[in-house]
Amino acid sequence: MTTPDAVPLIQLRDIRKAYGGEDGGPRVEVLRGIDLTLSAGEFVAIVGASGSGKSTLMNILGCLDRPSSGEYRFAGEDVADFDSDTLAWLRREAFGFVFQGYHLIPSASAQENVEMPAIYAGTPAAERHRRAAALLERLGLGSRLGNRPHQLSGGQQQRVSIARALMNGGHIILADEPTGALDSRSGTEVMALLDELAAQGHVVILITHDRDVAARARRIIEVRDGLIVDDRPASAPSAAPLPACAPPPLDLRAGSRGTVRAGAWRAELMDALRAAWRALWLNRFRTALTLLGIVIGVASVVVMLAVGEGSKRQVMAQMGAFGSNIIYLGGYSPTPRSPEGRISLDDVAALASLPQVKRIMPVNGAETVVRYGNVDHVMYTGGNGVDFPAILNWPVVEGRFFTAEEDAAAAPVAVIGQKVRERVFKDVADPIGRYLLIENVPFRVIGLLAAKGAASGDSDSDERIVVPYSAASVRLFGSHDPEYVIIAAADADRVHEAEQAIDRLLLRLHRGVRDFELTNNAAMIQAEARTRNSLSLMLGAIAAISLLVGGIGVMNVMLMTVRERTREIGIRMATGARQRDILRQFLTEAMMLSLLGGLAGVASALAIGAGLRLADVAVVFSPAAALGAFACALATGMLFGYTPARQAARLDPVIALTRP
Ligand code: ADP
Ligand code: MG
Repeated sequence: MTTPDAVPLIQLRDIRKAYGGEDGGPRVEVLRGIDLTLSAGEFVAIVGASGSGKSTLMNILGCLDRPSSGEYRFAGEDVADFDSDTLAWLRREAFGFVFQGYHLIPSASAQENVEMPAIYAGTPAAERHRRAAALLERLGLGSRLGNRPHQLSGGQQQRVSIARALMNGGHIILADEPTGALDSRSGTEVMALLDELAAQGHVVILITHDRDVAARARRIIEVRDGLIVDDRPASAPSAAPLPACAPPPLDLRAGSRGTVRAGAWRAELMDALRAAWRALWLNRFRTALTLLGIVIGVASVVVMLAVGEGSKRQVMAQMGAFGSNIIYLGGYSPTPRSPEGRISLDDVAALASLPQVKRIMPVNGAETVVRYGNVDHVMYTGGNGVDFPAILNWPVVEGRFFTAEEDAAAAPVAVIGQKVRERVFKDVADPIGRYLLIENVPFRVIGLLAAKGAASGDSDSDERIVVPYSAASVRLFGSHDPEYVIIAAADADRVHEAEQAIDRLLLRLHRGVRDFELTNNAAMIQAEARTRNSLSLMLGAIAAISLLVGGIGVMNVMLMTVRERTREIGIRMATGARQRDILRQFLTEAMMLSLLGGLAGVASALAIGAGLRLADVAVVFSPAAALGAFACALATGMLFGYTPARQAARLDPVIALTRP
């Protein structure tokens, strides 16, 4: 011992403990002024009738409980000054408890039960395993390391709890009726063990109502009605043999108090994860039901993000297909009775000079009868300018586009879309150079356009024939005015400005009558994006509500768990767990719960996504979506698991231990 001999190990002065009073029922004075001094190396029995206050005294001695008044000095220091972490440290390093009801954790094996105090002390895993196995071996349980408490007899369970008390050294063994629940043979074995420990230098404080058992001790203290009535050496003291392996000295220096060796958090985390998994597995049906909320929440978050991303990419593809800088100009009736305004080629020429306009192209088109061989087809033929491939980002893949000279000369040449090639020339190896009859006018095919439908999402766009504007006007439709005009703005980011400039100029040209209409791709895409946004918003609301419901479920399950495992919490505290260890354990559990929900949610999202894909909805899953969902699940677990976990951590060790 590092404490000077003059200072007793434990010194109680006028310790009193009362229950009830004020509002908590009738006031009961259980301890009524206990004065007691215990020194290193003592083997003491505290005897007394049932209800005399022995257990209450032991709980105070073991720092599981605080007295109502009086002074408790441990190695000369006032325990009242210790905070809860230091008390936990004392329980962990100095005391070892042996209870009448064994108080083992039912879901853990014998070895895991024994190792628990070492986990909280931060002992490295290998050393921990070795020491626990050696202790159990020494107590005759070498073949029972992996057994759970319910697979052991009472005597064996009590030996496991003695091994646990010794795990961190066990300077002071506090045994409360250790033989009370045992048959006489097991009881004798346990007493022999305590004898041996006392002989080795452990302080053993044995609490019993049985005088025969007490007679094994070297000092007998008798308690009656909360007072010490007798304190004498035992009549037949056994000659104390020299300590064979005295417990390592207790270091009470302030620096090490309440601290845990480095690396403890990993062992604790593993222990917490194991305990969490066991608890969840034991109640798997309840767990699964509770998780539904989180599963639905996470699944809708992931699906929402995937559908959002999918439609965003689709919109981008459409913008890329026709260009976001395109403005369409057409005629419009300003009033219901007035005729639709006409855009003339003079208007087009005037607009072409605007600096905001990069390219401008009148279009003159209609459905036409197209004959090849002796088969007729009805399809769209449009008269366009030579800018067609550039303005619509729509290249020719075979042959060539018509030239400006051909346009000026109204040459009867045609460039065909992919669908036209498939429908009209399906039996022809090379359509270039063949003649088509459009409205009975022969046109020579000079080029084939790239496929556009896949990118734009509109497969009809490939079923068109492009001829020079002049040829369409002169040879097919007999009108020189364009049906509509396609304008490419100079700057894709300033389409709106270009639109305003065009609007101003046309208004002047049309003498103030707005008999024309301007539309652009960007506006159309924006409108579509708005609908999609509201869809996302709805999914988001579902996700939020589900996560809330899931969170409440997690909280509910955690509250139940804490209630069901109050005894376990008490045991963990008695073996030296700090409040934050308990908090961490239950938070880990809540988080594991919601992470499982998150996993199941992501899995169902993938399944839903596969289904949506079959239904032709664009779905793009991203790691960010899965991560976001996991973050949501984790946050939910953290948020809703905190209250129950804190409730567990704040439990009073004695109340937790004695709650049925
Ligand atoms: P022993 O261990 O000697 O049998 P205890 O210390 O367990 O006695 O209890 C002593 C007395 O204190 C008993 O009369 C019991 O009813 C009372 N007591 C113990 N715990 C509480 C409590 N939490 N609230 C009220 N009374 C209690
Ligand atoms: Mg008792």
